[in-house]
Amino acid sequence: MNPQYQYDIFVIGGGSGGLTVVDEAQKLGKRVGLADYIKPSPHGTQWGTGGTCPNVGCIPKKLMHMTALIGEIRHELTATGWQGINPHSNHDWNTLVNEVQRQVKGINKANDDWLVTTNGITYYNKLGKLKDDHTIELIDKDGQSEFVTAEYIVIAVGSRPSFPSDIPNVKLLTITSDDLFSLKKAPGKTLVIGASYVALECAGFLTGLGYDVTVMVRSILLRGFDQEMAERIGDFMKIQGTKFIRGTIPNSIEDVEGKRLVKWILNGQEQSEIYDTVLLAIGRSADTQNLGLEQVGVQINKESGKIIANETDLTSVQNIFAIGDCVQGRLELTPTAIMCGKRLIKRLYCNGNQIMEYSDVSTTVFTPLEYGCVGYSEEAAVKKFGRENLKIFTSEFTPLFWNFANRKGTCYAKLIVKKDDDIVIGFHYLGPDAAEVTQGFGVVIKLKAKKNDLDNVVGIHPSVAEEIVQMQTWK
Ligand code: FAD
Ligand code: NDP
Repeated sequence: MNPQYQYDIFVIGGGSGGLTVVDEAQKLGKRVGLADYIKPSPHGTQWGTGGTCPNVGCIPKKLMHMTALIGEIRHELTATGWQGINPHSNHDWNTLVNEVQRQVKGINKANDDWLVTTNGITYYNKLGKLKDDHTIELIDKDGQSEFVTAEYIVIAVGSRPSFPSDIPNVKLLTITSDDLFSLKKAPGKTLVIGASYVALECAGFLTGLGYDVTVMVRSILLRGFDQEMAERIGDFMKIQGTKFIRGTIPNSIEDVEGKRLVKWILNGQEQSEIYDTVLLAIGRSADTQNLGLEQVGVQINKESGKIIANETDLTSVQNIFAIGDCVQGRLELTPTAIMCGKRLIKRLYCNGNQIMEYSDVSTTVFTPLEYGCVGYSEEAAVKKFGRENLKIFTSEFTPLFWNFANRKGTCYAKLIVKKDDDIVIGFHYLGPDAAEVTQGFGVVIKLKAKKNDLDNVVGIHPSVAEEIVQMQTWK
């Protein structure tokens, strides 16, 4: 411990990454400081401790997604003889929001209790700003400042929704995922702008809850993901009732008696429509403005605001580290921020030498037909290895329980295998419980298993995952 400083380590930002650093460091007996402060959304939405994931990200999103899936089961319940269930009953938005917020507040309380009662942690509900390479200014909601010093500083300030710069008043005429999960009034007829994780997940559960939803797609669905799978997600969403307008962005958004008049140009023609709600989901920007980064010499990408850190998470200043969504080139996922924080503390204090690996990270998009994947997309594999050097196995299937009420659409899986060594380099699965199925196959890909290894696995019957160990058809 260096007595010159108040803290051994000070973390700015208490989300998935920051809280992990705090936890791991306190377990080692370090003097840890944490500043976490939530700047309200343009509509004034604020939340408690824990960062994006439990408040306005993974957790409320998954709860709403699951609610929509539960709604889907009404048809199977009716078909299998459960009495008193109306497959066409309406959903009450306020009940759901209250329940989601009850669960979120439970997580906030557990975090608050832990932060306040754990020895070695000092928590400041204040905005952190770098003053010099060992000093942090902490500013409270009334603008009052205090200063603390630390040997190491970790920046884990995450990201916030982006807004287009060319639409007047866009921040007040639209909502984002920061507002959706605590929205007091049902969203009604909704336009979702954007076509990646956040946009498609939100459009999917809003449709499932019974709202009239349109997604406005600038270019492709789910950039960076296997495009065959992405298009299948779009097709399934269309079957469920989500509408798509492809190849355009809004020209203008206006308030008309409390509703939103959105105008856009498609095939040279101006088109317009009135919506109750416009949900903007066009990506996220690092929350690094006013952090004093450049003043102390921490390099950032001036365009994106993301912090530049090396593979050991070190910034351009020798005792300042950065982890999570605010760092350039990182996967913006909760488990990557968590593992990154754990490995950082091991390297700093326990002679660890493992760096965070960002390849072969499993992920799931929680669209109505869930999509789990790990490793190469077909496009990326073809680009790197050449189509002639790959075997691409596919399988289209229908889960057993879908037959009860004749659900429309099909599930699909794909394995991408290198011909020369038989190693499986890409796994893609569209179907129920995608996160659960994909997590297991993530281990398979990480261990560089061969297709022959999968062929030697006896499937579990009847299941959807058995499809993956039985794939024999090449594309
Ligand atoms: P954050 O969790 O964003 O935490 C940063 C914290 O720092 C915040 O509390 C912020 O208020 C605070 N802060 C910012 N500036 C300051 C400052 N100057 N001083 C003090 N505090 C400050 N990931 C998944 O893995 N699975 C999912 O299903 C998933 N779903 C998502 C759904 C949505 C709608 C969104 C938006 C994201 C989702 N993510 C998901 C991504 C995941 O939430 C993020 O990758 C993760 O939360 C990033 O963690 P972080 O620690 O980098 O930042
Ligand atoms: P992304 O950056 O992944 O996608 C942004 C989307 O918005 C793209 O479809 C993009 O289109 C579109 N877009 C960008 N600018 C404009 C514009 N001006 N007008 C119209 N459309 C535009 O952002 P997300 O917010 O979806 O997700 C952020 C991150 O959060 C993800 O990368 C993911 O890591 C994480 N996340 C994870 C989830 C999970 O694990 N299930 C769920 C949700 C989020 P184009 O392709 O044309 O560029």
